[in-house]
Amino acid sequence: MAATLLDGIRIANEIKNEVAEEAGRLSETGLRPGLAAVLVGSNPASEIYVRSKVQTCQALGLYSEKITPPEFSTTAELLELVHDLNARDEIDGILVQLPLPPQVDSKKVLLAVLPEKDVDGFHPMNVGFLSTQRPGLVPCTPAGIMEMLRRSNIPLQGADAVVVGRSDIVGKPMAMLLTNANATVTICHSKTRDLPGVCHRADILVAAMGRTGFVTRAFVKPGATVIDVGMNKITTREEFDKYFKGNEKREQAFAKNGYTLIGDVHPEVAEVAGALTPVPGGVGPLTIAMLMANTLKAAKLRRGARFQSPAMAERG
Ligand code: NAP
Repeated sequence: MAATLLDGIRIANEIKNEVAEEAGRLSETGLRPGLAAVLVGSNPASEIYVRSKVQTCQALGLYSEKITPPEFSTTAELLELVHDLNARDEIDGILVQLPLPPQVDSKKVLLAVLPEKDVDGFHPMNVGFLSTQRPGLVPCTPAGIMEMLRRSNIPLQGADAVVVGRSDIVGKPMAMLLTNANATVTICHSKTRDLPGVCHRADILVAAMGRTGFVTRAFVKPGATVIDVGMNKITTREEFDKYFKGNEKREQAFAKNGYTLIGDVHPEVAEVAGALTPVPGGVGPLTIAMLMANTLKAAKLRRGARFQSPAMAERG
């Protein structure tokens, strides 16, 4: 039986509607959550991401600002910019779009963002809050996956979860969130022995490796929930035929755009998984929805006791 497809677009819309509603309520009290997006230089992919983030803010009633320092900016100049944004009260979230140009010390710049404005959840302080289960800002992609699992009623308590990939922005926080939700979690990476065997034990398998169609049916226990985080482009006919031969819809998109997106999970997994996120239309849309949710959360956590949850007020 074919896997149920977990519709990321629908769930992302649900989240965005909730954010818009709450932002509307807050605006009646004079609070408008604000996001500053810093885009250095002119990387075409980054420009598209930032544009879409700013437009989503506008659509949901959040304040947003796009700041575009030149390509040749130095680390010191970007640090000064971040410090200015840290000091501005109407800015609740600061997003520094990656990658930064090679002359910039990215780690230093990211570390300069105040933890309470770190809507990407990358700051070590937020990493610490996550691992000690304190309120803080959680990286958007894994936070979105948790929302998807929760809203799709996928049981987590006691489930065997396997996360393939251990990056700071996806794999590690994903594993931590699943652990916090009482799953039994295994983290895999490029040195893992018998990867298919380890993955085959999973009730929930998260593939976040950036390897086209790597996870085949041999990796997947029948009925498992498979979350495909990978975003890879197929641009050649040979590769297209390997994965999508005879798929009319894909064929049309490929002809029109000259490429099609594929995840880390092979399409054949749909025949064995119980539930599966499609690519595109799965995890991707959730990432931006959670950025909006994080901006709202940052505004509530940071501004005034009347917006604070009791736990956050305790933390001061
Ligand atoms: P990353 O920093 O490159 O990390 C990849 C991880 O996968 C590493 O831990 C690596 O292991 C592991 N890995 C690579 N090849 C492997 C193999 N053959 N077997 C086992 N493990 C392997 O990537 P990332 O930033 O986490 O992103 C992962 C994917 O998710 C990419 O395709 C990216 O485009 C996509 N992504 C999508 C979204 C979204 O919104 N949908 C958001 C973020 C990322 P080692 O640590 O041993 O090298």
